[in-house]
Amino acid sequence: MPEPLKSVLIANRGEIALRVIRACKEMGIRSVLVYSEADADSLPVKEADQAVCIGPGSVNASYRNAQAVISAALAYKVDAIHPGYGFLSENPDFVRMCEEEGVGFVGPASHIIKSMGDKIEAKIIARRAGVPTVPGSLGAISEYEEARTVADEVGFPMLIKAAAGGGGRGMRVVQTADTLEKDLREIMSEAEVAFGDPSVYIERYLTDIRHIEIQVISDGETVLHVGERDCTAQRRNQKLVEEAPSPVLDAELRDGLAAAAVALCKEVGYTNAGTVEFVFDNVDRKYYFIEMNTRIQVEHPVSEMISGIDLIKLQLQIAGGTPIGMTQEDVVIRGHAIECRINAEDPENDFAPDPGRIVSFRAPGGFGVRMDTHIESGYVIPPYYDSMIGKLICWGRDREEAVARALRALDELEVEGIVTTAAFQKEILDSERFRSGDFNTAYVGQLMANRHS
Ligand code: ADP
Ligand code: ADP
Ligand code: MG
Repeated sequence: MPEPLKSVLIANRGEIALRVIRACKEMGIRSVLVYSEADADSLPVKEADQAVCIGPGSVNASYRNAQAVISAALAYKVDAIHPGYGFLSENPDFVRMCEEEGVGFVGPASHIIKSMGDKIEAKIIARRAGVPTVPGSLGAISEYEEARTVADEVGFPMLIKAAAGGGGRGMRVVQTADTLEKDLREIMSEAEVAFGDPSVYIERYLTDIRHIEIQVISDGETVLHVGERDCTAQRRNQKLVEEAPSPVLDAELRDGLAAAAVALCKEVGYTNAGTVEFVFDNVDRKYYFIEMNTRIQVEHPVSEMISGIDLIKLQLQIAGGTPIGMTQEDVVIRGHAIECRINAEDPENDFAPDPGRIVSFRAPGGFGVRMDTHIESGYVIPPYYDSMIGKLICWGRDREEAVARALRALDELEVEGIVTTAAFQKEILDSERFRSGDFNTAYVGQLMANRHS
């Protein structure tokens, strides 16, 4: 029987590193943070019990350097590694190294990450579990003739997706047969360059959809779900605002989605936290599995706020071998939560990253307001990393109160010295369409386009 974790190495940076450090402190777990030279002055480095520099600012030399991370874990004799999101979190080779070195990993086993990380294999597993998937190719497509056959079945527009894609990258819409051959060739070589894997597959391109995902957590025996999150407010397939519960689901659809996510987890023997992502077709009101993220997600706090469950602590508990100790009936959803991803990007300049020095920062506060961030006044945002600098999460008794509170909190938020997405998020939340709950994944792009016309 494994012992509860006494020490954890955090292989990440920014707000998620701070989030994990905070959970460790509350659980009496020693936290060891690995950091890059570019993050030496960052808040997580100050807050961790121990911090060790593993290399220069560029990600491949530090946060993505599996060998450096494992060496630190062995040198500091930690029980386990928490990978956060991004970086090494879904890298099966890294997790295999942990397994071989006898270092715990806060997440599923390497073979599960490998299966689900391949979006083609994940879709095949989903079908096997009886979970509906988007109509499209049954496996990888590499020849024009195969793509034509799929096109005859699903019709145009089609979406070619890289099996190894992620973070909203590795997708291309094909409008007509005329460009199919060229698009297929180009996306395959793009996928090879970006992800080291040229495999692609094809799906029908659904044009009036919402993105709805289910938070799951399992100790290997009990698989729980913590309801859905609605991430329909996206720009170029990247999430900008997330909320829970979804404003469009009835009880039957909600139960169906959750049951599908749990069935998929049981099919693969999933352990620890994960997210099963679906697109929801507004036209026929049907849902289709698109992928599973085998890690904690950026937007996990909205589920925490409506359930009262600390997902990071539960991850650490499960990794230490202690069963969940809850049943599905113990997961009670209350109220509504909305998250805005605050990015250091300029909406007026095509969302170009705007790193630099934060002259002053003041976080919003008050009832139901949570700001997860590592930024401080005087902090210099390094140019090497993702432009997300924090998340503002607001809870309300119902959606209307959560929206009003989020708008109030966005007003209070002060970040001087750099440009952020906050003003644009205010526009989204304040718009009639968003308030009505009746919108789709194209909405945010249209809102942006209309400002310029
Ligand atoms: P979430 O669903 O948790 O919001 P995202 O897909 O936005 O996750 O990814 C979270 C972060 O992880 C992104 O900001 C990005 O930096 C990183 N990331 C995710 N997948 C990849 C990938 N395949 N390649 C590079 N970075 C990725
Ligand atoms: P990633 O790994 O980059 O997160 P996903 O497969 O989760 O990629 O897709 C990202 C987003 O792209 C989805 O949230 C959805 O908005 C859009 N998308 C994915 N598949 C389809 C599809 N078949 N038709 C239309 N939009 C899609
Ligand atoms: Mg996704």
